[in-house]
Amino acid sequence: MQKLSKNTEKFDAIVIGSGPAGATSAYTLASQGYSVLLLEKVEFPRFHIGESMVPYIVEIFEKIGILDRLESEGFVRKLGVDISLSSGELGRANFADLAAGQKPYAFNLERCRFDKILLENAEEAGVRLLQRAEVKDLILDGDRIVGVEYKYQQQNYQAMSPFVIDASGRAGIVAKHFKLRKMNPKLRNVAIFQQFDNASEENNPAIEGDLIVGFHPDGWMWQIPLDDKTISVGAVVPQTTFKTGSPQEIFDAHLSRLPRLKARVQGATPVFEKLKTELDFCYHSERFAGLGYFLVGDAACFVDPQFSGGVYLGMLSGMKAAEAIADIFQGKDEQKAFIDYENFCKTGYDSYYRLIYAFYSCENYNVLKLFQSFPGGYKFMLQTMCGDLWGEPDQPVLSYLRSQEQWATFEEPFETVYGCPVYPNAGYKVADEAADSLC
Ligand SMILES: Cc1cc2nc3c(=O)[nH]c(=O)nc-3n(C[C@H](O)[C@H](O)[C@H](O)COP(=O)(O)OP(=O)(O)OC[C@H]3O[C@@H](n4cnc5c(N)ncnc54)[C@H](O)[C@@H]3O)c2cc1C
Repeated sequence: MQKLSKNTEKFDAIVIGSGPAGATSAYTLASQGYSVLLLEKVEFPRFHIGESMVPYIVEIFEKIGILDRLESEGFVRKLGVDISLSSGELGRANFADLAAGQKPYAFNLERCRFDKILLENAEEAGVRLLQRAEVKDLILDGDRIVGVEYKYQQQNYQAMSPFVIDASGRAGIVAKHFKLRKMNPKLRNVAIFQQFDNASEENNPAIEGDLIVGFHPDGWMWQIPLDDKTISVGAVVPQTTFKTGSPQEIFDAHLSRLPRLKARVQGATPVFEKLKTELDFCYHSERFAGLGYFLVGDAACFVDPQFSGGVYLGMLSGMKAAEAIADIFQGKDEQKAFIDYENFCKTGYDSYYRLIYAFYSCENYNVLKLFQSFPGGYKFMLQTMCGDLWGEPDQPVLSYLRSQEQWATFEEPFETVYGCPVYPNAGYKVADEAADSLC
């Protein structure tokens, strides 16, 4: 790291925002010996919604060295997804049915604790972290981003770098600067949520640790056990419904339409004084990388949380962006690195988006029923929703999703990247004779 002047320093990479995507990018680069400045606007721990994980993320936790810590700190293991419809129909996605060699569980992670662990892990790898350091502007040389201006302890600073990773989540500093963000007019929901304490396991109709989701014709709800007595509970409703009453009225009405979920919080006490609300509006950026920048996680793309993939995609894109930068430092052609990264991200986010469209377009949101009608459908659906969004062209669920032209996310064509980065050689294959045996 070279000192330029009193308030200007130079780094191999600068990361804006230390959520899961930013912390993972910063860790990945620093652990390879690169100098990284990680700037975070607020001080951790901080509340963040998004506590339910997909199983494939566990392999990433292992790769970045935090799995043992998550296990020892008692985060809840999630073994499956318990699904109920207001009609009374029940279903379950069981992670034990994942292919041999894949970790058959995920976690429910209280984000204020989890995000801080990621941050500490990045710092231990050598990342220079500044909290309460808000990026105010980008520094450009012609068309290229070459640094950032930020405010820290009432003073303005500049930091310079060949690469800025934007992991600022919804703030989307780079995407907004270049007007890259496109809001999705079709997926405009609002989430209303609360945490409940003193919830009794005796009232749990599901397997301990399972994410419970309930669907009815006007929306859906989640229940995520965060420890043995605290549950995160949320309702996702169309924007039009949100305008019809107070958040409390809407939340209560949705809960009473799903008796299994209502019973689960019987006698439990709300933690937040008021329900929290957050726009679930989906958006994406057409570019994921360009001169001097990479977009990762929600700074690039946000997709409805139904399948719990936001943190997974954030960490994976964060890791891939860091690897792309390291490749460039090792001599890879920069434009090629941008395009490869973009194709990888577009393949993943596009598949994930399509899963969401399938969900919202199914009768009673019964996506399980839709895919169960495919040969081997349950297993391939499980594999897709657990994290393999890069499956081969003959994977029946992904091939169906990709064939639906009306569900395309990106306007510009991109090259589909095949091969899941988490389990490159594992997973169910169409050729497997066993592929149908569970259906
Ligand atoms: C209602 C709802 C439910 C969800 N449920 C789930 C779920 O169950 N599972 C799941 O995996 N995902 C879920 N998600 C999505 C998940 O929360 C996000 O995908 C994930 O947090 C993205 O991580 P990130 O690192 O990209 O962004 P974030 O976690 O948002 O981090 C961005 C960071 O950037 C910082 N920042 C912003 N501006 C600046 C600035 N100018 N200077 C410096 N720092 C800045 C912010 O303070 C923040 O810490 C849900 C989302 C919503 C809205």
